[in-house]
Amino acid sequence: MNNEQLWQSVLGEIELNLSRANFTTWFKNTFISSFEDDKIVICVPNTFTKAWLEKKYHSIISEALENIANQKISEIFYKVETKKADPSANLFNKSTAQKQVDSIQETPATLPSTPVNRFGLNLKYIFDNFIVGKGNELAHAACQAVSANPGKAYNPLFIYGGVGLGKTHILQAIGHMVSKKTENVMYVTCEKFTNDYIHSVKSGQAKNFKDKYRNVDLLLIDDIQFMGGKDGTQEEFFHTFNELHQSDKQIVLTSDRPPRSIPALEKRLLSRFEWGMIADITQPDIETRVAILESKCREKNYMLEGEILYYIANNVQNNIRELEGALNRLIAFHEFNNSKPTIESTKNTLSSIINSNKSKSITAKNILEVISQYFDIENKDLIGKSRKKELVYPRQITMFLLREEINFSYPTIGQELGGRDHTTAMHAYNKITKELEKDEKIKQDIESIKQSLYSSFN
Ligand code: ADP
Ligand code: MG
Repeated sequence: MNNEQLWQSVLGEIELNLSRANFTTWFKNTFISSFEDDKIVICVPNTFTKAWLEKKYHSIISEALENIANQKISEIFYKVETKKADPSANLFNKSTAQKQVDSIQETPATLPSTPVNRFGLNLKYIFDNFIVGKGNELAHAACQAVSANPGKAYNPLFIYGGVGLGKTHILQAIGHMVSKKTENVMYVTCEKFTNDYIHSVKSGQAKNFKDKYRNVDLLLIDDIQFMGGKDGTQEEFFHTFNELHQSDKQIVLTSDRPPRSIPALEKRLLSRFEWGMIADITQPDIETRVAILESKCREKNYMLEGEILYYIANNVQNNIRELEGALNRLIAFHEFNNSKPTIESTKNTLSSIINSNKSKSITAKNILEVISQYFDIENKDLIGKSRKKELVYPRQITMFLLREEINFSYPTIGQELGGRDHTTAMHAYNKITKELEKDEKIKQDIESIKQSLYSSFN
């Protein structure tokens, strides 16, 4: 492995820990210019990036470097230097496909490091390499039906599930399939849709926006939960939706939670999201996890023994992104050291990922944090005195989960929630337990919160 390959592996690992936007902003046009003994020089495009990497990302860079190079790195220097002549030395060098995308849209839908086609679809996100198991078979079948008969099977199709479980992959797979039949395919993140809308209003080009989004045959919007609370965008999307739906144009949306649990979503949009088909994706079982690892190995043309695959699949359970991350780390490590993975070396290489998973257990603070985020409320309001309906329900769910997930006693639950009486905690627990049996929305809320809890903190 040379410096360039080393840096690619390091970036691969860092990418797993950052949002796409952050990753692209801070790691674009960076490379290793020298690596001698235990000293590394990383070149960055400007002083701003240099300061940022030194301040904010130094420890994750250093940890990833040490992991993959399998040695102690005593010093890392950041130097402002722009790219030299060798084009292959930079992960972010653009493929032809990427250049095409850049010319037709301001923000590429996927990271510049991953090749995308002219619709902004990641070339790897296709049906052929999407492994189907119990957790995603319904969503998969619905996506295939929609691809075969856009606008006719289920409209809209709404897919929801926790982080890293394959929503973007399967959404884009529909895009690939349908783009064989029509050019009018549009994939956007909700963020992009929102920004486009705001921009069109500011620049007085509302008509361009309408022309762009209302004349497609297939509209794919990723992470629609971010539309919650954005009134102007919701209003516009409502009209876009109606126009497309009336002319039998297919709409597919993904979200980290079911429609009813999206905070501050207009009723008329909610009812439309529920018109068609709603399919969830849940965590993959062990067989699916092994099958996914096998498939990723085939893609990378890298052989691993069954025992090693099972070891990884058994120890990385929460989401597929982490599963892939573990596999990438294992491969990078062994390629760099020019060795063949054994079960022992696998345990060593992955120990920091796996042990950190095991040693962490869910705390009350984690539960409160996830619930505040999920319901889009402040932590202080969650534990505060107000008895507003928007707060009482999240508070009761919090009490329920403190009991159910981490076995807190009623008095302790009362204390955690701003010094309430133990009878209040008991009442909340019993109430939610009873309602869970008959109320689908509560069930879905709790399921989504648990998924988010375990994929963030476990
Ligand atoms: P989400 O959008 O739900 O957060 P992604 O679609 O980004 O998740 O998936 C995370 C990673 O896991 C991607 O690299 C994707 O290719 C992979 N992945 C997810 N589900 C599957 C699957 N069923 N088969 C193969 N790869 C998958
Ligand atoms: Mg996604």
